[in-house]
Amino acid sequence: MTHNPIRPWRDIERRPSRRVMVGDVPIGGGAPIAVQTMTNTDSSDVRATLAQVLAAAEAGADIVRISIPDEAASRALREIVAESPVPIVADIHFHYRRALEAAEAGAACLRINPGNIGRPERVQEVVAAARAHGCAIRIGVNAGSLERHLLEKYAEPCPEAMVESALDHIRILEDHDFHDYKVSVKASDVFLTAAAYQALAEATDAPLHLGITEAGSLNAGTVKSAIGLGSLLWAGIGDTIRVSLSADPVEEVRVGYEILKSLGLRHRGVNIISCPSCARQGFDVIKVVEQLEERLAHVKTPMSLSVIGCVVNGPGEALMTDVGFTGGGAGHGMVYLGGRQSHKLSNDEMLDHIVGQVEAEAARIEAARARAAETEAATAAGTAAETAAEPATGAAVPPAGGAR
Ligand code: SF4
Repeated sequence: MTHNPIRPWRDIERRPSRRVMVGDVPIGGGAPIAVQTMTNTDSSDVRATLAQVLAAAEAGADIVRISIPDEAASRALREIVAESPVPIVADIHFHYRRALEAAEAGAACLRINPGNIGRPERVQEVVAAARAHGCAIRIGVNAGSLERHLLEKYAEPCPEAMVESALDHIRILEDHDFHDYKVSVKASDVFLTAAAYQALAEATDAPLHLGITEAGSLNAGTVKSAIGLGSLLWAGIGDTIRVSLSADPVEEVRVGYEILKSLGLRHRGVNIISCPSCARQGFDVIKVVEQLEERLAHVKTPMSLSVIGCVVNGPGEALMTDVGFTGGGAGHGMVYLGGRQSHKLSNDEMLDHIVGQVEAEAARIEAARARAAETEAATAAGTAAETAAEPATGAAVPPAGGAR
């Protein structure tokens, strides 16, 4: 639970789930909610695919998925995995051989539905390969490709059908004593997706991968994902997310982070609080915020910046941000640092100056964090040394079984 003693209305109690490792990224069991995206290059093109993986990782993606439709893609996967800074999930549909090749090539996770693999020996082989190579498996149920018998039973894709499908796939892995799996039940409809995940969250303790599938364009898909994923995350459901947009994977990562940041579930980079602007603005808020977003994209330290057009809301917002700028009169505004009024600034200098202030504040936060980590490590080392020394004195250690 993200417990906030001062602002308890911000608490989100996360659903307890098992932890599964995707490479070195923990999913579930209280781990930070991982952000995923998927490449849209020709997967056999190592250079183009790797460029997307690197760009997504730079934007903050914890995990990247690559579809593996053929043998050429499997071959390329080995090279991509070797160069990737983040774990790679291989997206397989029906071809069990691709799953074997991907596991062998170093994929950290296979996205495959065991019920679609075919003959039991093949399922056995895929599970054995996943186990041998330390691969997790993601079961991905999609409302658009539900099994025929479930569509006949339920007449149309519905939460019950999606959960039944997921549980059928889960059962196959459990029957093979394989437990390193996570599950998704995606639909393009927000209501169906939310209801399916709510029911699935009750039916299994597996970590859940959230997504609204085929959400649409950057704008429409962002809104849809924010509503669908946001409502589930707010209810504590979800251990990893992928925002599916008809846009660059980097945009998916940015939107994923914004959703998590809005809910206080993860923090990364500068959270810019800005007003919509109006006739009272002391500078061109929209243009400045656009430029600041671009120039501050490299800052990874979680921090906040308020950029407000005038004194109506500026000073109030600045009280709650690390760096603030409020427009004033006669081509000048006021800079706030750490919630306190600091100095007057001419609008002509504001862009470079704010970027400089944010970078300096980020460096200060990082230095303070490094000092705190050093102190913590020194304290832990001191405690360990004291504990190690205690048996030698014999006095501080109670006899086995204690005095009770
Ligand atoms: S803060 Fe000022 S400039 Fe911005 S929208 Fe409100 S009144 Fe307008």
